Amino acid sequence: MLTEIETERYTIRGRSLGGMYTALHVPELDALFDCGAALRSGCAARNLFLSHAHVDHVGALPTLLGLRGLTGVERPLRVFAPAPVAEELNGALAGFGRLHRWPLEVEAIGLRAGDEYKVRADMWVRAFQTFHPVPALGYQFFRRVDKLREEFKHLPGHEIGRLRREGADIFDTAEHLELAYATDTLPEVLRHTPSIQRSRVAIVECTFLDARKPLDKARAGCHIHLHELLKYADGFENEALILMHFSQLYRPAEVHRLLAERLPPALAARTHPLAPPDGDWWD
Ligand SMILES: [Zn+2]
Ligand SMILES: [Zn+2]
Repeated sequence: MLTEIETERYTIRGRSLGGMYTALHVPELDALFDCGAALRSGCAARNLFLSHAHVDHVGALPTLLGLRGLTGVERPLRVFAPAPVAEELNGALAGFGRLHRWPLEVEAIGLRAGDEYKVRADMWVRAFQTFHPVPALGYQFFRRVDKLREEFKHLPGHEIGRLRREGADIFDTAEHLELAYATDTLPEVLRHTPSIQRSRVAIVECTFLDARKPLDKARAGCHIHLHELLKYADGFENEALILMHFSQLYRPAEVHRLLAERLPPALAARTHPLAPPDGDWWD
């Protein structure tokens, strides 16, 4: 069973447990996020965005490629990854391809913080720096929208049309921030990349939730502790905040309870933990 979270515009489906596996599918973006588990329902997606290459985020990639072969997906998987990871990816897959007796290959696209890529006609992605001890990135999806400049707003439509045809400089470009993904990182990422908290949807890790993991230990592992996330609570403008990558120190029901108790009520109402409602984790 996967967990599925419906927001106004995006569906986030998958499972994530710190150190064990993280794999999400957002069908509206035709995108997978990390591949610590091979999601059968998302195996035909066009794009995979890798945050980093710890095995709980990348270890199921050979399985995912095998699933694609089995179900007849012909187009290659486009894998966006930190540049040093992208350089190694097909080499690492080649060994599995030999064992499997079938080539396992991807279209690897290496990015560095600040790089932008047009993933489809109306959608861009920008990589941003995350803070983890290996090459790591987060991803900001956004649309670029032309906005008529203030000084031209009084003009009638046919006049604007004429100026546009003549290529006059009458528009400013605005960015509509759609979805941000930041995992395996210190909380400073929120200060470093303010767009995360202004996105329609933000998916952010919150590995540790209480004193069972002291703050200094959480920081040493380069993960977010709820205690620190709370300092940024006022800044979350998102329509939906999805928290994930919880440690298995906590049972799913505890995750829901601790977040409901400790987040300010207005934020708790917009926050969706990527965790089963009760019972055990997914496996
Ligand atoms: Zn992880
Ligand atoms: Zn990691």
